[in-house]
Amino acid sequence: MYRLILVSLLLTILYYLLRHMFRGFKTPLQNSQENSSTQGPGDELDQMIQDPVCHIFVPRRIALIELIGGREYCFCSKECAGKFRDEHPI
Ligand SMILES: [Zn+2]
Repeated sequence: MYRLILVSLLLTILYYLLRHMFRGFKTPLQNSQENSSTQGPGDELDQMIQDPVCHIFVPRRIALIELIGGREYCFCSKECAGKFRDEHPI
């Protein structure tokens, strides 16, 4: 009889432990979902933008972004940005 009580007690402990573990599993999953949502701007950084001077496609992450005449332009290099500025005086 005592054995039965002990087994049911162990099962309850196991149940609570599993519930606790599942809660522990759920939080990192939610975190990873948050991480994937924060990867959104990361994807934006990988967006390919065309250089208006040499027409090369540059990932936004490495592009040289310059504000010219209130507009944002992306260049592959300072040389292209300089050329663009010369061609488009404000
Ligand atoms: Zn260029």
